[in-house]
Amino acid sequence: MSAPDTDAKDLESEYEALLSFMYLSPVGIVRSDKSGAVDMMNPLAAQLLMPLVKTGSIENIFDSLASVAPELRNLVASFDAERGPVCENHRVFVTPAGNGAVVLACSIIKVGANLLMTVLTDISRQVAAERRARQTESWLAGLYTSVNDFAFFTLDAQGCVESWNSSVEQLTGFGEADVVGRTLSRFYARDEIVLHRSPEHIALTRDEGWHVEECWCETRTGRRYWGQVLVAVLREEEGDITGYSVVLRDVTERKVTSDNLARLLTTDHLTGVSSRAHFFESAEVEVARAKKHSRPLSVVMLDADHFKRINDTAGHQAGDAVLKRIADEAKGMVRASDTVARLGGEEFILMLPSTATGEAMAIADRLRVAVERARIDTAVGQLKATISLGVATLSQANPTLQGLLAAADRALYDAKRAGRNRVRAEVLEPADAACTACDEGNASQN
Ligand code: GH3
Ligand code: MG
Ligand code: MG
Repeated sequence: MSAPDTDAKDLESEYEALLSFMYLSPVGIVRSDKSGAVDMMNPLAAQLLMPLVKTGSIENIFDSLASVAPELRNLVASFDAERGPVCENHRVFVTPAGNGAVVLACSIIKVGANLLMTVLTDISRQVAAERRARQTESWLAGLYTSVNDFAFFTLDAQGCVESWNSSVEQLTGFGEADVVGRTLSRFYARDEIVLHRSPEHIALTRDEGWHVEECWCETRTGRRYWGQVLVAVLREEEGDITGYSVVLRDVTERKVTSDNLARLLTTDHLTGVSSRAHFFESAEVEVARAKKHSRPLSVVMLDADHFKRINDTAGHQAGDAVLKRIADEAKGMVRASDTVARLGGEEFILMLPSTATGEAMAIADRLRVAVERARIDTAVGQLKATISLGVATLSQANPTLQGLLAAADRALYDAKRAGRNRVRAEVLEPADAACTACDEGNASQN
């Protein structure tokens, strides 16, 4: 007596479980007959299909989807078996393909001769992500092939080249076998101190997340270029560094432009020696250095003699040629560590680190003789010129740049007064001549 009762109850609760499964299911579920007439659907299915129906009610699933997926009706009609999947994750574009498209995945399962279950899933986000990935891929492919002064590649966690692509070959000429497994130093010019550079670059990248360096690089055929190397860490989700991405650029043009700019700012446009401003900047540094290391530092200030007369008789352009020649003679006479600068007009200065008064006077006199002997070619024929020179050395009595320049100026004035075309030095006490008084210790005792 009680058995059929229990069966009915079981059936009822099973049916209720099925209903609540449909109700709560994260996918849209529609039950229909073969022709698509709907007899049951869950709220999510109604929500997904509603934008497609104009009448406001969903009576037939194929009618509802006809405007965007007319093929579904035919798929079902031509499905002969009594049961089985008619289609699986068939993509239905509810709104046109593109950014923000609404896309449904539709699976139809024939569960009986005249019974269909249709499962609808909103896959808009997944489709958008795929689209973005495809865009990124074609974007990168475009960069690899069309930008020829950039190379993109990756390094493994140890800093060795891991991936290679055509952009690397276009920029550097290196093929895959040349670079994979090698460190960044493979790209640097041989005369760069490469051994320590690459690990240091990677260490800084690890600390900061990314790091940029610039240095001379060399292509496979030995062409030098000024390379900008940007390295950024690649992390996996747990935060471990799994490798690095690298952008290598040829920025030679920019380097040349900025070098030219720096040259413009630091050199005198007529003579090519240091400008007045640059002289004062580097002179302060030299004075500080000489004091710190107790080394002598001398300056030679020089001025063209009767230059006004040269301008007046031969013309301003000829005067310019004389100035250039004086500068050239001076440049040819000094060491790389010395500075020649044009202070203004027809006045120049030589700064001679590690040079005591006697030595500076010898240099000054050699320069005097060189100018005196020069036959200077100008548009109006060969000219002769002389210069007067004043020498001063950093000392206890002259511990500052200002004092040093004033002393050299006085010595120059002495040379002019004594008849020009000669060298004079500021008269110093014997102890100062060796510049022992430049010493900071000595200076602080005063
Ligand atoms: P002194 O022997 O006493 O130095 O006589 P000086 O004629 O050389 O001295 P003065 O300072 O009277 O004349 C300097 C001249 O230099 C005046 C100025 O026109 C000229 N001068 C200044 N700058 C330039 C320049 O860039 N080019 C040319 N050609 N002349 C210049
Ligand atoms: Mg002069
Ligand atoms: Mg002058």
